[in-house]
Amino acid sequence: MTKASIMCIGAHADDIEFWVGGTCLKYLDRGYEIDYVMSTNNMSGQFHIVEKDKSVTRKEAEPALMEPIRKREAAAGAAMLKTVPVHLDHPQRHYTGSDMKKVLEGYGVPAPKGATLGRPSIMVSYDDPKSVDRVKDLILERAPEAVLTHNLITESPEHYATAMLILRGYRKALKAGYAGPLLFWNEFCQSTELDMSFFIWNSFIDISGLRQRQFDLIRCHITMVPFPERMDYLDFTRYAGVKDAELFKFASPVRDFKPSGDFTDEIKRNLMTQK
Ligand SMILES: [Zn+2]
Repeated sequence: MTKASIMCIGAHADDIEFWVGGTCLKYLDRGYEIDYVMSTNNMSGQFHIVEKDKSVTRKEAEPALMEPIRKREAAAGAAMLKTVPVHLDHPQRHYTGSDMKKVLEGYGVPAPKGATLGRPSIMVSYDDPKSVDRVKDLILERAPEAVLTHNLITESPEHYATAMLILRGYRKALKAGYAGPLLFWNEFCQSTELDMSFFIWNSFIDISGLRQRQFDLIRCHITMVPFPERMDYLDFTRYAGVKDAELFKFASPVRDFKPSGDFTDEIKRNLMTQK
């Protein structure tokens, strides 16, 4: 019998660790496998350099340098989750040019030298049937207990585009017989606490006692996040009844939802009317 698994799909190296790292660690401990999927090629980014006074300076880097580094860091994070990343490799919408200035061309940005070629930009990937079918095939092939991805309400257009791509792939997987739920993780933190439009959720995973290990997991992305402890996680006590939680919104209909293992049991148990 195959092991139970959850499939997590993030746009960028560090998204899975940041938004659902606690959930992954909790269910890894319970014998689950984690399917770790990246939607973009991770070619865009900046080095975060720690100065003597512990302040952080950001330094632009070209895709030929950034993409392999971020992929190595994703592989290290995935290894801590006892898995290897699957890269869908959609080019990001901007990148640092050879003059070290940010190139922002939006939709259909041509892939720069050194970047992975041959896929539509993440920003238009959800309109490309082939890209949608790859997601469908991945879900059907791995058959996870649930699929977890970004929220449609987010500060990042690449998170949004990823959520749309997964939503469309998931819809096709459902038609082909897949039965697990699709859950959008809530991208809510201290800095967006006053913006209640971000705060749409209907269940959560209790990750009490796991924050420190989650920080260690995030530390795999040292060029992006030199100080995980400084991240602005919110105290969720007033919302979920526990300080440390990861919140989810059903993308699939809640009324059709049937738990099929420990993970979806917890999602069902914590299903609540939003306060
Ligand atoms: Zn991201």
